[in-house]
Amino acid sequence: MTRARPLAGWGRHPVRDCTLAAPETEAEAAALVAAGPVIARGNGRAYGDSALGVPATLSTRRMNRMRAFDPATGVLEAEAGVLLADIIDTFLPRGWFPAVTPGTKFVTLGGMIAADVHGKNHHRDGAMGETVLWLDLLRPDGRVVRCGPGQERALFEWTVGGMGLTGVILRAAIRLRPVETGWIRQVTRPARDLSRAIALFEENAEATYSVAWIDCLATGAAQGRSLVMLGEHARRDQLPDDRVARPFRTRARRRLSVPFDLPGWLLNRYSARAFNAAYWNAGLRGAGVRLVDWDSYFYPLDSILGWNRVYGRRGFAQFQCVLPLDAAETGLQRLLNEIARAGQGAFLGVLKRMGAEARRFSFPMPGYTLALDFPATPGLPGLLARMDDIVQEHGGRFYLAKDSHLTAETLRRTDPRSAAFARMRSETGAAGRFVSAQSERLSL
Ligand SMILES: Cc1cc2nc3c(=O)[nH]c(=O)nc-3n(C[C@H](O)[C@H](O)[C@H](O)COP(=O)(O)OP(=O)(O)OC[C@H]3O[C@@H](n4cnc5c(N)ncnc54)[C@H](O)[C@@H]3O)c2cc1C
Repeated sequence: MTRARPLAGWGRHPVRDCTLAAPETEAEAAALVAAGPVIARGNGRAYGDSALGVPATLSTRRMNRMRAFDPATGVLEAEAGVLLADIIDTFLPRGWFPAVTPGTKFVTLGGMIAADVHGKNHHRDGAMGETVLWLDLLRPDGRVVRCGPGQERALFEWTVGGMGLTGVILRAAIRLRPVETGWIRQVTRPARDLSRAIALFEENAEATYSVAWIDCLATGAAQGRSLVMLGEHARRDQLPDDRVARPFRTRARRRLSVPFDLPGWLLNRYSARAFNAAYWNAGLRGAGVRLVDWDSYFYPLDSILGWNRVYGRRGFAQFQCVLPLDAAETGLQRLLNEIARAGQGAFLGVLKRMGAEARRFSFPMPGYTLALDFPATPGLPGLLARMDDIVQEHGGRFYLAKDSHLTAETLRRTDPRSAAFARMRSETGAAGRFVSAQSERLSL
Protein backbone atom coordinates (compact mmCIF):
# COMPACT_ATOMS: atom_id res chain seq x y z
CA MET A 1 0.00 0.00 0.00
CA THR A 2 1.39 3.38 -0.97
CA ARG A 3 1.31 6.55 1.11
CA ALA A 4 -1.74 8.77 0.77
CA ARG A 5 -1.50 11.37 -2.00
CA PRO A 6 -3.88 13.91 -3.51
CA LEU A 7 -6.23 12.34 -6.02
CA ALA A 8 -9.07 13.80 -8.09
CA GLY A 9 -11.39 12.88 -10.93
CA TRP A 10 -11.35 14.37 -14.42
CA GLY A 11 -12.86 17.66 -13.19
CA ARG A 12 -9.86 18.05 -10.81
CA HIS A 13 -12.27 18.94 -8.06
CA PRO A 14 -12.62 17.85 -5.29
CA VAL A 15 -9.14 16.61 -4.33
CA ARG A 16 -8.84 14.02 -1.56
CA ASP A 17 -5.87 12.28 0.05
CA CYS A 18 -6.05 8.62 -0.98
CA THR A 19 -3.73 5.67 -1.07
CA LEU A 20 -3.53 4.03 -4.47
CA ALA A 21 -2.62 0.37 -4.94
CA ALA A 22 -2.59 -1.39 -8.29
CA PRO A 23 -2.99 -5.16 -7.93
CA GLU A 24 -2.08 -7.37 -10.84
CA THR A 25 -3.91 -10.51 -9.79
CA GLU A 26 -7.22 -11.52 -8.30
CA ALA A 27 -5.47 -12.63 -5.08
CA GLU A 28 -3.80 -9.22 -4.67
CA ALA A 29 -7.11 -7.48 -5.25
CA ALA A 30 -8.84 -9.76 -2.72
CA ALA A 31 -6.21 -8.92 -0.10
CA LEU A 32 -6.89 -5.20 -0.58
CA VAL A 33 -10.63 -5.73 -0.24
CA ALA A 34 -10.11 -7.82 2.90
CA ALA A 35 -8.11 -4.94 4.40
CA GLY A 36 -10.89 -2.54 3.17
CA PRO A 37 -12.66 -0.27 2.81
CA VAL A 38 -11.63 0.48 -0.78
CA ILE A 39 -13.11 1.68 -4.04
CA ALA A 40 -12.09 0.57 -7.52
CA ARG A 41 -10.67 3.15 -9.89
CA GLY A 42 -10.32 2.66 -13.62
CA ASN A 43 -8.79 5.50 -15.63
CA GLY A 44 -10.16 8.34 -13.50
CA ARG A 45 -12.43 9.77 -16.22
CA ALA A 46 -15.43 10.18 -13.94
CA TYR A 47 -15.56 13.91 -13.30
CA GLY A 48 -16.16 14.03 -9.56
CA ASP A 49 -15.26 11.88 -6.56
CA SER A 50 -16.74 8.48 -7.42
CA ALA A 51 -13.32 6.88 -7.95
CA LEU A 52 -11.67 8.39 -4.86
CA GLY A 53 -11.37 5.84 -2.08
CA VAL A 54 -11.39 7.18 1.44
CA PRO A 55 -8.87 6.24 2.44
CA ALA A 56 -7.93 3.48 -0.03
CA THR A 57 -8.25 3.29 -3.81
CA LEU A 58 -7.72 0.14 -5.87
CA SER A 59 -6.49 0.91 -9.37
CA THR A 60 -7.40 -1.74 -11.94
CA ARG A 61 -4.94 -0.47 -14.54
CA ARG A 62 -2.56 -3.42 -14.15
CA MET A 63 -5.37 -5.92 -14.58
CA ASN A 64 -5.54 -5.18 -18.27
CA ARG A 65 -5.29 -8.39 -20.27
CA MET A 66 -7.61 -9.35 -23.11
CA ARG A 67 -8.35 -13.02 -22.59
CA ALA A 68 -10.42 -14.33 -25.49
CA PHE A 69 -12.24 -13.20 -28.62
CA ASP A 70 -14.76 -15.07 -30.73
CA PRO A 71 -14.64 -13.78 -34.33
CA ALA A 72 -17.94 -15.48 -35.09
CA THR A 73 -19.95 -13.56 -32.47
CA GLY A 74 -17.76 -10.55 -31.63
CA VAL A 75 -17.69 -11.48 -27.93
CA LEU A 76 -14.60 -10.25 -26.11
CA GLU A 77 -13.49 -11.42 -22.67
CA ALA A 78 -11.15 -8.98 -20.95
CA GLU A 79 -9.95 -7.84 -17.57
CA ALA A 80 -11.56 -4.74 -16.11
CA GLY A 81 -8.54 -2.47 -16.49
CA VAL A 82 -8.34 -2.77 -20.29
CA LEU A 83 -8.72 0.63 -21.96
CA LEU A 84 -11.44 1.13 -24.54
CA ALA A 85 -8.78 2.73 -26.76
CA ASP A 86 -6.87 -0.58 -26.77
CA ILE A 87 -10.02 -2.54 -27.58
CA ILE A 88 -10.62 -0.29 -30.60
CA ASP A 89 -7.00 -0.46 -31.74
CA THR A 90 -7.10 -4.24 -31.60
CA PHE A 91 -10.52 -4.99 -33.05
CA LEU A 92 -11.47 -2.20 -35.44
CA PRO A 93 -8.97 -3.41 -38.05
CA ARG A 94 -10.78 -6.79 -37.84
CA GLY A 95 -14.19 -5.19 -38.38
CA TRP A 96 -15.48 -4.78 -34.80
CA PHE A 97 -16.37 -1.62 -32.89
CA PRO A 98 -17.71 -1.06 -29.32
CA ALA A 99 -21.49 -1.50 -29.31
CA VAL A 100 -21.77 1.36 -26.79
CA THR A 101 -19.16 4.03 -26.18
CA PRO A 102 -18.95 7.20 -24.09
CA GLY A 103 -17.45 10.41 -25.49
CA THR A 104 -13.89 9.44 -24.58
CA LYS A 105 -11.99 6.25 -25.37
CA PHE A 106 -9.68 6.71 -22.36
CA VAL A 107 -11.94 4.74 -20.03
CA THR A 108 -11.60 1.19 -18.73
CA LEU A 109 -13.97 -1.69 -19.29
CA GLY A 110 -14.69 -1.81 -15.54
CA GLY A 111 -15.40 1.93 -15.41
CA MET A 112 -17.79 1.70 -18.34
CA ILE A 113 -19.73 -1.12 -16.70
CA ALA A 114 -19.75 0.44 -13.21
CA ALA A 115 -21.22 3.69 -14.60
CA ASP A 116 -23.41 1.85 -17.17
CA VAL A 117 -22.20 4.41 -19.68
CA HIS A 118 -24.38 5.55 -22.54
CA GLY A 119 -23.41 6.69 -26.01
CA LYS A 120 -25.02 8.56 -28.87
CA ASN A 121 -27.08 5.42 -29.60
CA HIS A 122 -28.81 5.08 -26.23
CA HIS A 123 -32.23 5.83 -27.74
CA ARG A 124 -31.86 2.72 -29.95
CA ASP A 125 -29.37 0.34 -28.37
CA GLY A 126 -29.47 1.09 -24.64
CA ALA A 127 -26.43 1.48 -22.37
CA MET A 128 -23.27 -0.49 -21.62
CA GLY A 129 -25.19 -3.09 -19.62
CA GLU A 130 -26.93 -4.25 -22.80
CA THR A 131 -23.56 -5.34 -24.19
CA VAL A 132 -22.40 -7.33 -21.13
CA LEU A 133 -22.86 -11.12 -21.20
CA TRP A 134 -21.37 -11.67 -17.75
CA LEU A 135 -18.97 -10.10 -15.31
CA ASP A 136 -16.89 -11.48 -12.44
CA LEU A 137 -17.35 -9.47 -9.26
CA LEU A 138 -15.12 -9.55 -6.19
CA ARG A 139 -17.55 -9.36 -3.29
CA PRO A 140 -17.12 -7.99 0.25
CA ASP A 141 -16.47 -11.49 1.62
CA GLY A 142 -13.68 -12.15 -0.91
CA ARG A 143 -15.73 -14.50 -3.11
CA VAL A 144 -15.78 -13.97 -6.85
CA VAL A 145 -19.32 -14.20 -8.22
CA ARG A 146 -20.12 -14.40 -11.91
CA CYS A 147 -23.28 -12.48 -12.73
CA GLY A 148 -25.14 -11.44 -15.87
CA PRO A 149 -28.61 -11.10 -17.34
CA GLY A 150 -29.08 -14.88 -17.00
CA GLN A 151 -27.34 -15.60 -13.67
CA GLU A 152 -27.28 -13.78 -10.34
CA ARG A 153 -29.41 -11.21 -12.11
CA ALA A 154 -30.13 -8.97 -9.11
CA LEU A 155 -26.43 -8.59 -8.35
CA PHE A 156 -25.76 -7.82 -12.02
CA GLU A 157 -28.46 -5.17 -12.10
CA TRP A 158 -27.16 -3.43 -8.98
CA THR A 159 -23.57 -3.61 -10.20
CA VAL A 160 -24.08 -2.17 -13.69
CA GLY A 161 -24.56 1.48 -12.80
CA GLY A 162 -23.60 0.79 -9.16
CA MET A 163 -20.47 2.99 -9.32
CA GLY A 164 -18.15 0.36 -7.82
CA LEU A 165 -20.22 0.12 -4.66
CA THR A 166 -21.18 -3.56 -4.93
CA GLY A 167 -17.64 -4.88 -5.45
CA VAL A 168 -14.66 -4.88 -7.77
CA ILE A 169 -15.37 -5.95 -11.34
CA LEU A 170 -12.43 -8.20 -12.25
CA ARG A 171 -13.30 -9.23 -15.80
CA ALA A 172 -16.23 -9.27 -18.18
CA ALA A 173 -17.47 -10.56 -21.51
CA ILE A 174 -18.91 -7.93 -23.84
CA ARG A 175 -20.39 -7.96 -27.29
CA LEU A 176 -18.80 -5.80 -29.99
CA ARG A 177 -20.62 -4.56 -33.11
CA PRO A 178 -19.61 -5.60 -36.64
CA VAL A 179 -18.70 -2.68 -38.92
CA GLU A 180 -17.59 -2.57 -42.55
CA THR A 181 -15.42 0.54 -42.26
CA GLY A 182 -13.85 2.94 -39.79
CA TRP A 183 -15.96 5.82 -41.13
CA ILE A 184 -19.20 7.45 -40.02
CA ARG A 185 -21.67 9.05 -42.38
CA GLN A 186 -22.51 12.20 -40.43
CA VAL A 187 -25.48 14.44 -41.12
CA THR A 188 -25.43 17.84 -39.38
CA ARG A 189 -28.79 19.55 -39.00
CA PRO A 190 -28.92 23.03 -37.43
CA ALA A 191 -31.87 23.70 -35.10
CA ARG A 192 -32.72 27.37 -34.57
CA ASP A 193 -34.09 26.79 -31.05
CA LEU A 194 -34.78 24.14 -28.43
CA SER A 195 -38.17 23.05 -29.82
CA ARG A 196 -36.68 22.45 -33.23
CA ALA A 197 -33.77 20.48 -31.72
CA ILE A 198 -36.21 18.20 -29.88
CA ALA A 199 -38.32 17.82 -33.02
CA LEU A 200 -35.22 16.76 -34.98
CA PHE A 201 -34.35 14.11 -32.39
CA GLU A 202 -37.90 12.73 -32.51
CA GLU A 203 -38.04 12.77 -36.32
CA ASN A 204 -34.76 10.88 -36.46
CA ALA A 205 -35.47 8.22 -33.85
CA GLU A 206 -34.29 5.56 -36.31
CA ALA A 207 -30.80 7.06 -36.69
CA THR A 208 -28.18 4.84 -35.04
CA TYR A 209 -26.40 7.81 -33.48
CA SER A 210 -27.77 11.22 -32.57
CA VAL A 211 -26.39 13.96 -30.40
CA ALA A 212 -26.62 17.75 -30.34
CA TRP A 213 -24.22 20.46 -29.38
CA ILE A 214 -26.38 23.07 -27.68
CA ASP A 215 -25.50 26.72 -27.16
CA CYS A 216 -26.47 27.16 -23.52
CA LEU A 217 -25.74 30.90 -23.60
CA ALA A 218 -28.01 31.89 -26.51
CA THR A 219 -31.08 33.81 -25.38
CA GLY A 220 -34.42 35.07 -26.75
CA ALA A 221 -35.60 33.45 -29.97
CA ALA A 222 -32.30 31.60 -30.29
CA GLN A 223 -32.52 29.95 -26.88
CA GLY A 224 -31.38 26.34 -27.15
CA ARG A 225 -30.09 26.63 -30.71
CA SER A 226 -28.29 23.40 -31.50
CA LEU A 227 -26.38 21.46 -34.08
CA VAL A 228 -27.96 18.02 -34.22
CA MET A 229 -25.54 15.44 -35.51
CA LEU A 230 -26.80 12.11 -36.80
CA GLY A 231 -24.51 9.26 -37.69
CA GLU A 232 -24.39 5.82 -39.30
CA HIS A 233 -21.46 3.46 -39.72
CA ALA A 234 -20.53 3.85 -43.37
CA ARG A 235 -20.74 0.76 -45.55
CA ARG A 236 -17.81 -0.12 -47.74
CA ASP A 237 -19.72 0.82 -50.89
CA GLN A 238 -20.26 4.32 -49.47
CA LEU A 239 -16.52 5.07 -49.31
CA PRO A 240 -14.77 7.02 -52.05
CA ASP A 241 -12.79 4.78 -54.45
CA ASP A 242 -9.41 5.62 -52.94
CA ARG A 243 -10.53 4.36 -49.50
CA VAL A 244 -12.31 1.14 -50.42
CA ALA A 245 -9.18 -1.01 -50.41
CA ARG A 246 -8.37 0.00 -46.82
CA PRO A 247 -11.70 0.72 -45.17
CA PHE A 248 -10.30 0.81 -41.63
CA ARG A 249 -7.35 3.04 -42.40
CA THR A 250 -8.19 6.55 -41.23
CA ARG A 251 -5.78 9.44 -40.99
CA ALA A 252 -3.99 9.65 -37.63
CA ARG A 253 -5.36 12.72 -35.88
CA ARG A 254 -3.05 15.47 -34.81
CA ARG A 255 -2.79 15.48 -31.05
CA LEU A 256 -2.68 18.80 -29.28
CA SER A 257 -2.06 19.04 -25.59
CA VAL A 258 -2.65 21.60 -22.87
CA PRO A 259 0.76 21.59 -21.18
CA PHE A 260 -0.10 23.80 -18.20
CA ASP A 261 -3.10 25.16 -16.30
CA LEU A 262 -4.59 28.07 -18.22
CA PRO A 263 -5.44 31.10 -16.10
CA GLY A 264 -8.96 30.83 -14.69
CA TRP A 265 -10.04 34.25 -15.98
CA LEU A 266 -9.56 33.12 -19.58
CA LEU A 267 -12.91 31.39 -19.47
CA ASN A 268 -15.71 33.82 -18.80
CA ARG A 269 -19.14 34.62 -20.19
CA TYR A 270 -17.64 36.69 -23.04
CA SER A 271 -15.09 34.13 -24.22
CA ALA A 272 -17.66 31.32 -23.91
CA ARG A 273 -20.27 33.32 -25.86
CA ALA A 274 -17.73 34.08 -28.59
CA PHE A 275 -16.67 30.42 -28.77
CA ASN A 276 -20.28 29.22 -28.97
CA ALA A 277 -21.16 31.73 -31.69
CA ALA A 278 -18.11 30.70 -33.75
CA TYR A 279 -19.00 27.02 -33.33
CA TRP A 280 -22.59 27.66 -34.39
CA ASN A 281 -21.52 29.54 -37.50
CA ALA A 282 -19.00 26.84 -38.42
CA GLY A 283 -21.79 24.28 -37.95
CA LEU A 284 -24.06 26.19 -40.33
CA ARG A 285 -21.33 26.17 -42.95
CA GLY A 286 -20.67 22.44 -42.43
CA ALA A 287 -24.34 21.39 -42.39
CA GLY A 288 -25.26 18.42 -44.56
CA VAL A 289 -23.71 15.02 -45.11
CA ARG A 290 -20.04 14.12 -44.80
CA LEU A 291 -17.79 11.20 -44.00
CA VAL A 292 -15.99 11.51 -40.68
CA ASP A 293 -13.44 9.10 -39.26
CA TRP A 294 -14.51 7.18 -36.12
CA ASP A 295 -12.06 8.98 -33.84
CA SER A 296 -13.22 12.49 -34.79
CA TYR A 297 -16.86 11.48 -34.64
CA PHE A 298 -16.95 9.69 -31.30
CA TYR A 299 -14.04 11.27 -29.44
CA PRO A 300 -13.55 14.90 -30.52
CA LEU A 301 -12.14 15.93 -27.14
CA ASP A 302 -9.59 13.12 -27.01
CA SER A 303 -7.47 14.93 -29.60
CA ILE A 304 -6.66 17.60 -27.00
CA LEU A 305 -4.70 15.77 -24.32
CA GLY A 306 -5.24 17.19 -20.86
CA TRP A 307 -8.09 19.46 -22.00
CA ASN A 308 -9.32 19.54 -18.42
CA ARG A 309 -6.52 22.04 -17.75
CA VAL A 310 -8.23 24.79 -19.76
CA TYR A 311 -10.34 25.50 -16.70
CA GLY A 312 -7.30 26.40 -14.68
CA ARG A 313 -6.01 25.04 -11.40
CA ARG A 314 -9.31 25.35 -9.54
CA GLY A 315 -10.92 22.74 -11.77
CA PHE A 316 -14.47 22.48 -13.01
CA ALA A 317 -17.71 20.62 -12.54
CA GLN A 318 -19.85 18.86 -15.05
CA PHE A 319 -23.60 18.96 -14.61
CA GLN A 320 -25.56 16.14 -16.22
CA CYS A 321 -29.20 15.41 -15.67
CA VAL A 322 -31.92 13.56 -17.55
CA LEU A 323 -35.49 14.88 -17.71
CA PRO A 324 -38.44 12.63 -18.53
CA LEU A 325 -40.00 13.05 -21.98
CA ASP A 326 -43.17 14.85 -20.95
CA ALA A 327 -41.32 17.47 -18.90
CA ALA A 328 -38.13 17.71 -20.93
CA GLU A 329 -38.80 20.82 -22.99
CA THR A 330 -40.08 23.01 -20.15
CA GLY A 331 -37.40 21.73 -17.78
CA LEU A 332 -34.63 22.38 -20.31
CA GLN A 333 -35.97 25.88 -20.96
CA ARG A 334 -35.84 26.68 -17.28
CA LEU A 335 -32.32 25.29 -16.97
CA LEU A 336 -31.18 27.40 -19.95
CA ASN A 337 -32.80 30.51 -18.41
CA GLU A 338 -30.94 29.89 -15.19
CA ILE A 339 -27.61 29.34 -16.94
CA ALA A 340 -27.99 32.48 -19.07
CA ARG A 341 -28.97 34.52 -16.01
CA ALA A 342 -25.99 33.30 -13.99
CA GLY A 343 -23.62 34.32 -16.77
CA GLN A 344 -21.14 31.55 -15.95
CA GLY A 345 -18.82 30.69 -18.81
CA ALA A 346 -20.34 27.49 -20.12
CA PHE A 347 -19.51 25.88 -23.40
CA LEU A 348 -19.69 22.34 -24.69
CA GLY A 349 -23.33 21.72 -23.79
CA VAL A 350 -24.42 18.32 -25.05
CA LEU A 351 -28.04 17.22 -25.53
CA LYS A 352 -29.07 13.63 -26.17
CA ARG A 353 -32.29 11.67 -26.44
CA MET A 354 -32.29 8.67 -24.09
CA GLY A 355 -34.19 5.43 -24.55
CA ALA A 356 -35.50 2.84 -22.15
CA GLU A 357 -34.62 2.61 -18.47
CA ALA A 358 -32.80 -0.59 -17.49
CA ARG A 359 -31.14 -1.95 -14.35
CA ARG A 360 -31.72 -0.95 -10.78
CA PHE A 361 -29.60 2.11 -10.13
CA SER A 362 -28.31 3.22 -13.48
CA PHE A 363 -28.78 6.72 -14.82
CA PRO A 364 -30.71 6.58 -18.11
CA MET A 365 -34.47 6.98 -18.42
CA PRO A 366 -36.54 7.85 -21.50
CA GLY A 367 -36.13 11.59 -21.99
CA TYR A 368 -33.47 14.19 -22.69
CA THR A 369 -30.11 14.43 -21.04
CA LEU A 370 -28.17 17.69 -20.84
CA ALA A 371 -24.47 17.78 -19.94
CA LEU A 372 -22.31 20.86 -19.59
CA ASP A 373 -19.17 22.05 -17.87
CA PHE A 374 -18.78 24.98 -15.51
CA PRO A 375 -15.53 26.38 -14.11
CA ALA A 376 -15.38 26.02 -10.32
CA THR A 377 -16.09 29.62 -9.29
CA PRO A 378 -17.39 30.93 -5.97
CA GLY A 379 -20.86 31.39 -7.52
CA LEU A 380 -21.06 27.85 -8.87
CA PRO A 381 -22.54 26.04 -5.83
CA GLY A 382 -25.50 28.45 -5.82
CA LEU A 383 -26.14 27.99 -9.54
CA LEU A 384 -25.92 24.20 -9.27
CA ALA A 385 -28.32 24.17 -6.33
CA ARG A 386 -30.87 26.16 -8.35
CA MET A 387 -30.42 23.82 -11.32
CA ASP A 388 -30.82 20.79 -9.02
CA ASP A 389 -34.16 22.20 -7.85
CA ILE A 390 -35.37 22.58 -11.44
CA VAL A 391 -34.39 18.98 -12.23
CA GLN A 392 -36.26 17.79 -9.17
CA GLU A 393 -39.37 19.81 -10.01
CA HIS A 394 -39.46 18.20 -13.47
CA GLY A 395 -38.99 14.62 -12.29
CA GLY A 396 -35.43 14.29 -13.51
CA ARG A 397 -32.31 12.76 -12.03
CA PHE A 398 -28.51 13.07 -12.07
CA TYR A 399 -25.60 11.09 -13.51
CA LEU A 400 -23.28 10.01 -10.71
CA ALA A 401 -20.30 9.57 -13.06
CA LYS A 402 -20.35 13.35 -13.55
CA ASP A 403 -21.45 14.44 -10.11
CA SER A 404 -19.28 16.18 -7.53
CA HIS A 405 -21.78 18.39 -5.75
CA LEU A 406 -25.13 16.66 -5.02
CA THR A 407 -26.32 16.36 -1.44
CA ALA A 408 -27.61 13.09 -0.01
CA GLU A 409 -30.99 14.72 0.41
CA THR A 410 -31.24 15.84 -3.23
CA LEU A 411 -30.26 12.37 -4.39
CA ARG A 412 -32.94 10.74 -2.21
CA ARG A 413 -35.58 13.16 -3.46
CA THR A 414 -34.71 12.84 -7.16
CA ASP A 415 -33.91 9.14 -7.21
CA PRO A 416 -35.95 7.09 -4.73
CA ARG A 417 -34.05 3.99 -5.91
CA SER A 418 -31.08 5.23 -3.89
CA ALA A 419 -32.70 4.17 -0.60
CA ALA A 420 -33.05 0.56 -1.82
CA PHE A 421 -29.49 0.69 -3.14
CA ALA A 422 -28.15 1.82 0.25
CA ARG A 423 -30.22 -0.88 2.00
CA MET A 424 -28.86 -3.57 -0.31
CA ARG A 425 -25.32 -2.35 0.41
CA SER A 426 -25.81 -2.52 4.10
CA GLU A 427 -27.47 -5.98 4.03
CA THR A 428 -24.76 -7.54 1.85
CA GLY A 429 -21.77 -6.08 3.70
CA ALA A 430 -20.79 -3.94 0.68
CA ALA A 431 -21.32 -0.71 2.65
CA GLY A 432 -18.43 -1.54 4.99
CA ARG A 433 -16.02 -2.67 2.25
CA PHE A 434 -16.59 -0.41 -0.76
CA VAL A 435 -16.56 3.28 0.06
CA SER A 436 -15.86 6.28 -2.16
CA ALA A 437 -15.82 9.97 -1.34
CA GLN A 438 -19.04 10.14 -3.37
CA SER A 439 -20.76 7.28 -1.51
CA GLU A 440 -19.95 9.03 1.78
CA ARG A 441 -21.23 12.39 0.55
CA LEU A 442 -24.43 10.80 -0.76
CA SER A 443 -24.92 8.45 2.22
CA LEU A 444 -24.96 5.40 -0.02
C1 LIG B 1 -14.48 13.66 -22.13
C2 LIG B 1 -15.43 12.72 -21.43
C3 LIG B 1 -16.57 12.33 -22.10
C4 LIG B 1 -17.47 11.45 -21.47
N1 LIG B 1 -18.58 11.09 -22.17
C5 LIG B 1 -19.47 10.24 -21.60
C6 LIG B 1 -20.62 9.81 -22.31
O1 LIG B 1 -20.86 10.21 -23.45
N2 LIG B 1 -21.45 8.92 -21.71
C7 LIG B 1 -21.20 8.44 -20.46
O2 LIG B 1 -21.99 7.61 -19.97
N3 LIG B 1 -20.12 8.83 -19.75
C8 LIG B 1 -19.25 9.72 -20.30
N4 LIG B 1 -18.13 10.10 -19.60
C9 LIG B 1 -17.92 9.56 -18.24
C10 LIG B 1 -17.10 8.26 -18.26
O3 LIG B 1 -17.47 7.43 -19.33
C11 LIG B 1 -17.38 7.48 -16.96
O4 LIG B 1 -17.11 8.28 -15.85
C12 LIG B 1 -16.56 6.19 -16.83
O5 LIG B 1 -17.02 5.53 -15.68
C13 LIG B 1 -15.07 6.47 -16.69
O6 LIG B 1 -14.36 5.23 -16.73
P1 LIG B 1 -12.99 5.08 -15.94
O7 LIG B 1 -12.39 3.78 -16.32
O8 LIG B 1 -12.15 6.28 -16.11
O9 LIG B 1 -13.53 4.96 -14.45
P2 LIG B 1 -13.20 5.85 -13.14
O10 LIG B 1 -13.46 7.27 -13.45
O11 LIG B 1 -11.88 5.50 -12.63
O12 LIG B 1 -14.34 5.28 -12.17
C14 LIG B 1 -15.69 5.60 -12.39
C15 LIG B 1 -16.59 4.73 -11.51
O13 LIG B 1 -16.45 3.38 -11.88
C16 LIG B 1 -16.05 2.59 -10.77
N5 LIG B 1 -15.14 1.55 -11.29
C17 LIG B 1 -14.10 1.70 -12.12
N6 LIG B 1 -13.53 0.50 -12.36
C18 LIG B 1 -14.23 -0.41 -11.64
C19 LIG B 1 -14.11 -1.81 -11.47
N7 LIG B 1 -13.18 -2.54 -12.07
N8 LIG B 1 -14.99 -2.41 -10.63
C20 LIG B 1 -15.95 -1.71 -10.01
N9 LIG B 1 -16.11 -0.40 -10.15
C21 LIG B 1 -15.25 0.26 -10.96
C22 LIG B 1 -15.38 3.56 -9.83
O14 LIG B 1 -15.44 3.09 -8.49
C23 LIG B 1 -16.20 4.81 -10.03
O15 LIG B 1 -17.37 4.75 -9.27
C24 LIG B 1 -17.21 10.97 -20.17
C25 LIG B 1 -16.05 11.36 -19.50
C26 LIG B 1 -15.16 12.24 -20.13
C27 LIG B 1 -13.90 12.65 -19.40
